[in-house]
Amino acid sequence: MRPLFDRHGPILNPTDLDYDGWLDLLLEAGMNVLGLHTDYPTLKAWMQSRDGEAWCNRLAKARIDLEFAIHFTPSFLSEGLFRKHPDWFPVDICGTRYWEGANPCTSSEALLDYFREKASESARTLPSTTHRYHLWAADNRPWCNCKACAPFSPSENNLRLMHVMLEGLRSVDPKAELSYLAYLESLPQPVKVKPAKGIYLEFAPYRRNHRMPLADPGCRANADQMTALRGLLTVFPAAQARVLDYWLDISLFSAYRKDRPPVEVIPAPGIVKSDAETYAALGIREVTTFACWMNTAYFRSYPQARNRFVRFSRATRK
Ligand SMILES: [Zn+2]
Repeated sequence: MRPLFDRHGPILNPTDLDYDGWLDLLLEAGMNVLGLHTDYPTLKAWMQSRDGEAWCNRLAKARIDLEFAIHFTPSFLSEGLFRKHPDWFPVDICGTRYWEGANPCTSSEALLDYFREKASESARTLPSTTHRYHLWAADNRPWCNCKACAPFSPSENNLRLMHVMLEGLRSVDPKAELSYLAYLESLPQPVKVKPAKGIYLEFAPYRRNHRMPLADPGCRANADQMTALRGLLTVFPAAQARVLDYWLDISLFSAYRKDRPPVEVIPAPGIVKSDAETYAALGIREVTTFACWMNTAYFRSYPQARNRFVRFSRATRK
C-alpha cells in the first residue's frame, strides 16, 4: 500500500497531547504532519512551555512535521484597539462599526500594516516545520461593508488580508506559504482578487454530509461542496492545495459540547477511501483531518478508537 498523499495527518488541540500514545500512533498510521489548533495566545504559551519543547523534539526525531492552525486575527482585534482605531474594524450592514467577533476592514492601510507585523511575529513564535502557515480570519464571521470593502466578496476580503500576512511571514521565513481557508463564507472562489504566489488553497468542507462520499452525486450538500472545490481549483493550483476534512472531528460530532461525554466517531472506511480517491484524482497532494478532542479520556472511553485511527489512515492509501 502506498500513500495517496505527500502530507497526511490530524489536527488536534494541544490538550489532546495528554494521550502519550500519539507519537506511536502517528508512526503506525504512517502520518507525517501534526497540526495544533486553538487560539494564538494559548499556542504561543504551549510552544514556550517545557511540554511544547519536548513535543517539538519528539516530533523532529520521528520526522513528523508540526504546524499550527489558528483563527488568528480575533486575538489581535480587541475592544481597546477598537477605541483607538475604529476605522480598522468592520462596518455592519446597518453602517455601524463593531469590534466583537470582527473581521478587519481590509481597506485600511494601517490595519494591513498591523497584520503584516502580527504575522511576522507569529513566524517567530510559532514557526512551521513545513513552512506552511494557517493564520485564519475570524471563525464564520462577516466581513466589512464599508464603501471600499463592499465591492469585494468575503473570499476576496479574506484574500486581501492573507496577502499582507504572507508578506509578514516571509520577512521572517522566506519559504513561508499561507493558507487561504475556503470554508463557509469564504468557500466560493475569489474572482476580483487573484491569489499571490505562496497562497495555497485549504479546503474545509464543513457543510458536507459526513455520511455520504463527497463525490456522491445523489447528495445535494456534497455536490455543492464539489462544485465549490472545482471552482476553487480554477484559481488555486491543485498541486499546492491542502484538504482539511472532518472525518475524525470528535468536537464537531459532539456539537462542541463539553458538558457531556464526547460521542464515538467511527469513520466509514468506504467513505474515507472514496473521498481520498476524489481528492487525489483532482491532483491534491495533502490531506489533513480535524481530530480535536481525541485525548486520553476519549481513548479510555472508546477502546477501539486507536485501531480505528489506523484503519482510517489505511483507507487513504491504495
Ligand atoms: Zn472596510
